[in-house]
Amino acid sequence: MLLKHTTAKEIDRKSLTINPAKTCQPIGAMYAAFGLHGCLPHSHGSQGCCAYHRSALTRHFKEPIVASTSSFSEGSSVFGGSANLVQAIDTIFSVYNPEIVAVHTTCLSETIGDDLTQIISKAFDDGKVPEGKKVIYCNTPSYVGSHITGYSNQLASFVKFFSTSTTKKKNVVNLAAGWMEPSDMGEIKRVAKEMEARTIMFPDMTGVLDTGLTGKYEMYPKGGTTQADMAATGDSKFTIGLGEYSTQDACIKLENKCKVKFEVIDIPIGLKATDRFIMSLSRHANVPVPDSITEERARLLDLISDNQKYFYGKRVALWGDPDTLIPLTEFLVSLDMKPVYIVTGTPGKTFDERMYNILKNVPGAKFKSGANADMFQLHQWIKQEGVDLLIGNTYGKYIARDENIPFIRYGFPIADRAGHNFFPKTCYVGATNLAIQILNALMDYQDMHCPEEKVEFQM
Ligand code: SF4
Repeated sequence: MLLKHTTAKEIDRKSLTINPAKTCQPIGAMYAAFGLHGCLPHSHGSQGCCAYHRSALTRHFKEPIVASTSSFSEGSSVFGGSANLVQAIDTIFSVYNPEIVAVHTTCLSETIGDDLTQIISKAFDDGKVPEGKKVIYCNTPSYVGSHITGYSNQLASFVKFFSTSTTKKKNVVNLAAGWMEPSDMGEIKRVAKEMEARTIMFPDMTGVLDTGLTGKYEMYPKGGTTQADMAATGDSKFTIGLGEYSTQDACIKLENKCKVKFEVIDIPIGLKATDRFIMSLSRHANVPVPDSITEERARLLDLISDNQKYFYGKRVALWGDPDTLIPLTEFLVSLDMKPVYIVTGTPGKTFDERMYNILKNVPGAKFKSGANADMFQLHQWIKQEGVDLLIGNTYGKYIARDENIPFIRYGFPIADRAGHNFFPKTCYVGATNLAIQILNALMDYQDMHCPEEKVEFQM
């Protein structure tokens, strides 16, 4: 019993979080930076923060995560990190030669109050930034928000530093991608291509964090949104933001800066959210939905109806990021499952409002968001009344083991399984993958745990 001290009885605790359902802001900023082609993320703070952020991403993506740091010492912690950052920018361009350096702050540099605008303009004035190279930046204090807030702040900085508008709008739809796997982004791009919609996705981690082993190390792989495409987002006729928490700020900034109208919808996870995405793209790109996409939808429906009795009534506990949990919970309800316990460490009212609506016909469902929503409380709820399935990141494996519950890894981080880089969970194909994973987990459990006389050859 790894979590033997977790009790079913809840006590009021306002000042203690145990195993938070989130991680820190700069991890999101670092992840988003990899979605720009030729970009090196730079952490303005101590080496320890940068090492943690890199290792968290490396363990999940199983790829070398390259990032630089201002490497604060005791002196910079007291007097500020201006000299360190200017020196770092000089060294980065001399040694690593990226197209773009994306600087984000940490708790330490935010607490000191380092002014990135002033420091980076000094680096330009001192001639530390070579001609044609870019240094962009965003603030990511980790004592507020979560990794999703950091991702959102980085995305907004892309718009601030790159998007430009000429007088002529083009028949292109921007896809502002919320936090998801490169495989999920690849699937969304495949569907958009199938629909013959002209799109620009930003950020775009395909071809960056899902590359193969070729025997040749490339510090800046060929993927990622190019600077030219990022600039052109200002001339697109519309933006679809996928995931409110990750993309709404960037969409608003782009409208204010370049007058590109936008709509924020859910990440296309599950049947209904994918329907909404397809219809939105069809409407705004002015393209019909091809038969091939309708057939993918039909295959998903067929799988669901064939296996309805296995989904029906199964109680599920989930944790992770709001942009994922909202459409995922909706999908589980549409499968006739009962998502009963849901937590996210990312704060925000939208999660509570959406969950309230999605779960209104699920008796006894509980959900919580923000800094006090933690894995400990989720475990307490499970102890009070059990569930049939867990869906979330690797931090749930201890609950799964102690309570003997089938467990599907989903979200960030996944440090102990493979496959999240290969099999998308977005759009109809991704929903099919996910439904199959759910079915297999439930059926495996039934085969191994039911009485011998109940073991069925045909399921
Ligand atoms: S000090 Fe702040 S930025 Fe650094 S690892 Fe901790 S929470 Fe993240």
